[in-house]
Amino acid sequence: MSEQTLDRRSLLQASIGAALAPVLARAQRAGAPPPNILYIMSDDHASHAISAYGSKVNKTPNIDRIANEGMRMNNCFATNSICTPSRGAVLTGQYSHKNGVYTLSDFIDPKKTTVAHLLRDAGYQTAMIGKWHLQTDPQGFDYWNILPGQGAYHNPVFITKEGKKQHQGYCTDLIGDFSLDFLKNRDKSKPFFLMSHHKAPHRAWQPSPKYATWLMNETIPEPDNLYEDITKRGGASQRATLRIGEDFTETDLKVPKPEGLSQRDMRKWAYQVYMKDYLRCIRSVDDNVGRLLDYLDAEGLKDNTIVVYTSDQGFFLGDHGWFDKRFMYEETMRMPFLVRYPKHIQPHTTSNDIVLNVDFAPTFLEFAGQKAPDWMQGRSFAQNLAGKSPGDWRQSMYYRYWMHLGGGHTVTAHYGVRTHTHKLIYYYGQALGKKGAVNKPTPPEWEMFDLEKDPREMRNVYDDPAYAGLRESLKKELARLKDHYQDTE
Ligand code: CA
Repeated sequence: MSEQTLDRRSLLQASIGAALAPVLARAQRAGAPPPNILYIMSDDHASHAISAYGSKVNKTPNIDRIANEGMRMNNCFATNSICTPSRGAVLTGQYSHKNGVYTLSDFIDPKKTTVAHLLRDAGYQTAMIGKWHLQTDPQGFDYWNILPGQGAYHNPVFITKEGKKQHQGYCTDLIGDFSLDFLKNRDKSKPFFLMSHHKAPHRAWQPSPKYATWLMNETIPEPDNLYEDITKRGGASQRATLRIGEDFTETDLKVPKPEGLSQRDMRKWAYQVYMKDYLRCIRSVDDNVGRLLDYLDAEGLKDNTIVVYTSDQGFFLGDHGWFDKRFMYEETMRMPFLVRYPKHIQPHTTSNDIVLNVDFAPTFLEFAGQKAPDWMQGRSFAQNLAGKSPGDWRQSMYYRYWMHLGGGHTVTAHYGVRTHTHKLIYYYGQALGKKGAVNKPTPPEWEMFDLEKDPREMRNVYDDPAYAGLRESLKKELARLKDHYQDTE
């Protein structure tokens, strides 16, 4: 980034600060304490499995409460759609190439400053409960109680500063219990920042005994491209082992695969098994969101608490015939983002602004009356939440997945740009020495999608002459974003 760009950025931040200053100044004059922040994040919960986002497969009444009483962000995206890197981006406000968390095999440098340190320094009591998945012990938190790695669904072990302890019960309910315990026993002289991170509904989708038979006699609607002919897509799609049916293990399905089924019938059968367990896991998450909202409402904390519900990324729910994530496709790069803060956000509002996981930390800091440090690459969307989006808000976003062919899913490394209407993806085909990536080159490949005409991303228009002009302008925008975020090949 040139000095000139840095200067522009500083000026921009100063102007954002100036625009919000009256709001904060008013709050300070009134002696209002900074808002509490309850950040609830699940793992692999796609927005198309949330009824507030129009889900066709389930209802999520408690998660929907946040949307009904606040804002639904329609275009919130992960910058690297996989568990550990997305968590790194949320905590640091930086892309993977800046925070060092590129793949599932990376850890966050314990010496690195995160949003938790900055909020604690600003007078918050900070806590992290549930799935951490960044290997090193959490830093910047007054209290933490985390799962080791992925953690277990049933009778899980948790780790605190005091050591490991196994608990009896279902993981999602325990994370709800521990989050409530923290809230009840918190230091009431301070605002709180609580990250309550569910493991669910991550693979292998093991439901609570309470919901083990729920949906048993239902048929989950299939997506329109469950049986897509993947041989008509490019090499990166053909290479990916995310296929519903073929790529499920018995651990995933929990029952043996029926013998003698055609590929299509196997997919049809496996989709139902997979989706029912996935939705059962989500039902427990929804219950526990409700418990936390009930507590805030009963304690009179509703007005001065920002409540966020999100997930570290989205997920394929049979879209393109797939499960899992990683690709820069709509279903997986999109994060649900619902937020309630009655003092600042009108109920039942929506926004189509493009916001990113690297923006979360600057946003929380702004609400806490703090300026985000210059090294954070995201930008606060506090004003966007009040329906006052800055005139120069981003119209495009940069994405990069680094874990070339790794993690057993053989998804090709790629980067790309998404605007409100189009997407350009480049599969550059190399591992670049990253841990967790496989050092086997694949042929470079481009994809381009017209999101207005083809929101399901079924037709690659990269070589379509009608899109030649747009293709070149997207390439320029991609180069600009790469330069802006200081990423290299
Ligand atoms: Ca995840």
